[in-house]
Amino acid sequence: MQKLIINVAVCGSAPTREMNPAIPHTPREIAEEALRCWRAGATVVHVHVREPETGEPAFRKELFAEVLERIRAESDMLVNLTTSGFNLQGDDPGEERLAPVSLGPDLCSLDVGSLNFRGRVFINPTDWVDKAAQRMRQNGVKPEIEVFDLGHLRQAVDMLGRGLVADPPYFQFCLGVPWGAPADLPTLMAFKERLPEGILWSVLGVGAAQLPLTTHAMLLGGHVRVGFEDNIYLSKGVPADSNARFVERVVDLAKILQREVATCDEAREMLGIPPKA
Ligand code: ZN
Repeated sequence: MQKLIINVAVCGSAPTREMNPAIPHTPREIAEEALRCWRAGATVVHVHVREPETGEPAFRKELFAEVLERIRAESDMLVNLTTSGFNLQGDDPGEERLAPVSLGPDLCSLDVGSLNFRGRVFINPTDWVDKAAQRMRQNGVKPEIEVFDLGHLRQAVDMLGRGLVADPPYFQFCLGVPWGAPADLPTLMAFKERLPEGILWSVLGVGAAQLPLTTHAMLLGGHVRVGFEDNIYLSKGVPADSNARFVERVVDLAKILQREVATCDEAREMLGIPPKA
């Protein structure tokens, strides 16, 4: 079985400090949290940024740039910047969403398909998705292809057929968001079975599904994503004091399940991402 890539999504845009006081806000806090996770064994950090003063979701390029710079100064961790840009209201939000690609991170998330998402509508028109994939390819940025439903997976596989994504493709199955696909084992198996043989995939499960789904993935040869973006509790009613607690738990479980954890260099090789300069 392949070595395990541990992704950590340290803040997302939804959780607040009222929900968990450990949510990082400033670029320094986000980077420090990423580095704590890297020391614990995480290989990829998925980054959203917040307004430093208020913690509101932000999408300013300079905030992404500072997080990227701080993490790279201290580690060889792979950095995955979001392009979800949920709250953008400008003249050309589609283009604004692609600003993180131009910063040259190792990966960017690429949301394929639209859905009802926590009371809002997450819109990803086909032409934008194609354009985003092409932009990432041109910039040498690996897309982390996020699929929330089986239709999204079909669309992504069609994109692979049209040569929009450089080899090897890398998928994130996003399970349990209201109202995407549910976070359970039959659904995970359905996603896995519909992915062409040999393609790298990871899974995230929202809330209490984070632990069982990531454990299933470890047994099935997939990779995992943990962190506050998807789940703020270590166990029922117990907020985690750092994202690193989730990473430590994955590392412990991987040991028990005899699944070796990938180093950052090994993850780069598996994902076809050049070594850190
Ligand atoms: Zn995200």
